[in-house]
Amino acid sequence: MPLTTEDILLDHGFPGTHRAVTVHRFGPARTDASAPRPKAYIQAALHADEIPGLLVAQHLLARLKAADAEGRVRGDIILVPYANPIGLSQAVLGTAIGRFALSSGVNFNRDFPDLAAPVADQVLGRLGPDAAANVVLVRRAALAAIAAWETATEADSLRKILMGLAIDADLVLDLHCDSEALVHAYTGTESWPDATDVMAELGCRAVFLALESGGNPFDEACSGLWWRLRNRLTAGLSGAVPPLPAACLAATIELRGRRDVDDALAAADADALVRVLTRRGLLAGDAGAAPAPACQATPLAGVDRVRAPVAGVVLYTVALGDTVTVGQTVAEVVDPVTGIRHPARARAPGIVWARAEQRYTAAGAIITSIAGDRPLAEEGSGLLTAR
Ligand SMILES: [Zn+2]
Repeated sequence: MPLTTEDILLDHGFPGTHRAVTVHRFGPARTDASAPRPKAYIQAALHADEIPGLLVAQHLLARLKAADAEGRVRGDIILVPYANPIGLSQAVLGTAIGRFALSSGVNFNRDFPDLAAPVADQVLGRLGPDAAANVVLVRRAALAAIAAWETATEADSLRKILMGLAIDADLVLDLHCDSEALVHAYTGTESWPDATDVMAELGCRAVFLALESGGNPFDEACSGLWWRLRNRLTAGLSGAVPPLPAACLAATIELRGRRDVDDALAAADADALVRVLTRRGLLAGDAGAAPAPACQATPLAGVDRVRAPVAGVVLYTVALGDTVTVGQTVAEVVDPVTGIRHPARARAPGIVWARAEQRYTAAGAIITSIAGDRPLAEEGSGLLTAR
């Protein structure tokens, strides 16, 4: 079956409004999770005001349509070109607000359901020695758990739709961006080094690994199911634990900064995604060998979020891509009352991968991020402060 396009309506909207997610599907319809074909799910702009992914999705859509016309689609590919119609409609006095729901303050990329408990209830005692059969069983249980979710808010209705499309995929890519940033990505510790080719193709200059990054963002809700489920089974079984691979590689891809929106970048990113899909068997063809990675992966807990020491005017003393040492001044914040310049210093050595776009800051706000190579004890939980 060629490309199908469907609009899925959200529930719980305000009277007189209808919002929808548009879903493009390539490849034969999958009616059974046991179908032996890889499945990829790609969505753009879950944080709706993160624009680069919206353009990349259009470039990717054109490439997938061409591949479809040439009969080169081998797996199931789902592309959601705008993942957040709620956020896309939010603006305050001319400024788009896409990260949080204005009605409730919740972050659109948090609080996805952790399916490990309901899936464990379904599969306990039914898993056997065949890992592939176990994967099929778990995917069916996960789809059933999503289908049974009775949502009460429009934002949860959106979460249910997106997870229902993605939870049984082998590959899930969630396209975001940062404020000012290099290309970087977040993925599960168990997805590494499997995700190396994805990050290398996209030219990621930083890759952050965590098993529990806090708040259960979309990618981790999809991939984390597998290791959370295994942990539950390990704790609940006295004998040998049935084999259960981490069957979903999910990642949040941050496509630079919010102003890095142009056709050349988007076309290159879409080409990279096509090579990933080809190498992973979703498209016919030869993608060649993956390029060498542009960085080593580092722990998410090692990210140094440098905060402004005072409120004031931000003058950066380092650029994106600079490598800094501990104690190095990364910015000066000019107090507009006294004129005193207060240095903001690095606590970790590593590459500067993000800066705040705004040049006026509140005291304590994050202004620069550095990819440290070992955990910073003081960061604690809630690692996704700036995600
Ligand atoms: Zn985001």
